Amino acid sequence: MDGHLAGPHAGERSCAGSLDPAEWRALRILGHQMLDDLFDDLEAVREGPVWQPMPDDIRAAWQAPLPHSGADPVDVYADYRRLVAPYGVGNRHPRFFGWVHGGGTVIGMLAEMLAAGLNANCGGRDHAPIEVERQVVRWAAEMLGFPKEAGGLVLSGTSMANFVAVLAARWAALGGAVREDGIGGTRLMAYASDGAHMCVARALDMAGLGSRSLRLIACDDAGRMRIPDLAERLEADRAAGMTPFMVVGTAGSVDIGAIDDLAGLAEMCRENGLWFHVDAAFGAMAMLSDRLQPLLRGIEQADSVVFDFHKWMQVPYAAGCIVVRDQAVLRAAFVRQADYLRPTGRGLTAGEPWPVDLGPELSRGFRALKVWMTIRTYGADRLRAVVEHCCVLAQRLAATIARTPELELVAPVALNIVCLRVAGGDDATHDGIASWLQETGRSVLSTTTLGGRRVLRAAIVNHRTRASDVDAIVSDVLDARNVFVVMPRR
Ligand SMILES: *Cc1c(COP(=O)(O)O)cnc(C)c1O
Repeated sequence: MDGHLAGPHAGERSCAGSLDPAEWRALRILGHQMLDDLFDDLEAVREGPVWQPMPDDIRAAWQAPLPHSGADPVDVYADYRRLVAPYGVGNRHPRFFGWVHGGGTVIGMLAEMLAAGLNANCGGRDHAPIEVERQVVRWAAEMLGFPKEAGGLVLSGTSMANFVAVLAARWAALGGAVREDGIGGTRLMAYASDGAHMCVARALDMAGLGSRSLRLIACDDAGRMRIPDLAERLEADRAAGMTPFMVVGTAGSVDIGAIDDLAGLAEMCRENGLWFHVDAAFGAMAMLSDRLQPLLRGIEQADSVVFDFHKWMQVPYAAGCIVVRDQAVLRAAFVRQADYLRPTGRGLTAGEPWPVDLGPELSRGFRALKVWMTIRTYGADRLRAVVEHCCVLAQRLAATIARTPELELVAPVALNIVCLRVAGGDDATHDGIASWLQETGRSVLSTTTLGGRRVLRAAIVNHRTRASDVDAIVSDVLDARNVFVVMPRR
């Protein structure tokens, strides 16, 4: 491409100051090239390393000063190919098991492009992208077995969705005054299992309640909150003058994929007048499967459920969701009038309530499009098949580990997460194995700590993962073990 696309000499043919190209053809060709490269990358994703470390000179390139003059987009794109594309986190790859990350899809990728092209602001006003979001939330509610009055939002992810849920529960407990006066001296207390995700404590912290307002209740051997312990804690806290207000059930714990007894928690919440919230970040997808759905029985009784589209539903980052049984509560917890946002019921300002009335964000991207296109393209049936396949692979991996004397299965496998140890290995061994596998690009596992000991963790989330990929986990870990464990001589 010759010349700068938006240089001053372009002024005669386009509006001076416009950032559109004076000459569209070259940029069009570049755009097509980008798309072709993306298709090539995805088609061949299995062949490359899962991950590779960023060399020092590449990292150093990110220290450049603010550029004052522009550059040819061809050169900017060349930098992207050289400096960015090879050094992603690797979650597109079928041997990425590190954390609960979705693999993304081609249709999701294309939807991101369409959404960027439309450049919709989904905070409010009356336009089709808002209807797309409402449709997606209604589908989510249907999947969860929620009533028609349910409402919600598409958000950046479950962390943000948990935060929104805490604020809704706070309003439900204390009413409108809390929004003007804060919580004052009330000691609002929330309850979750000790396997709950750290973002639940952070949500309470961000809501001004303090992370100590979250009581972590011990779990049974299957990683489920002990409900009798919860009952005791509630009583003790009330006796001490505190105000229990919400219980957070976990459907798919981040460490081992454990699912609380949600029906039991729902009953506790009803009896005690507490907001029942479920963090089902990835577990919610099990609702699509007749076989897995019984594990989540009770979720349909929750006051609010949050989950991610970008994990097990494979939608590209970032997209999560909150569904609230009674949308009026969400609105009451967030709505705030501003003159320049005053709805008139006509024209572009019709169509209340707007997303800005239901959550903390005003300007919001069109995240719902990639969710809508994903669900429309694959249908609930193919998405269900991905979820079930991942669970089958997890059971296969667990069975292989159980048969391998050098390895030890360290937690029950409820869904798609398998935790293992190398027999005789200490914490440093397990950290070393995970790092070595990552650095060699063979596979990505993460570590976590269970029962005070470091373990390797494989989360099987990617629709591209096959049986041979999970079998490779075992051979990779055994190879890594030979690097990190000096075997005693026989
Ligand atoms: C991933 C996860 C979260 C956090 O979700 P983000 O989308 O990363 O913000 C919360 N809870 C559980 C159980 C998770 O697995």
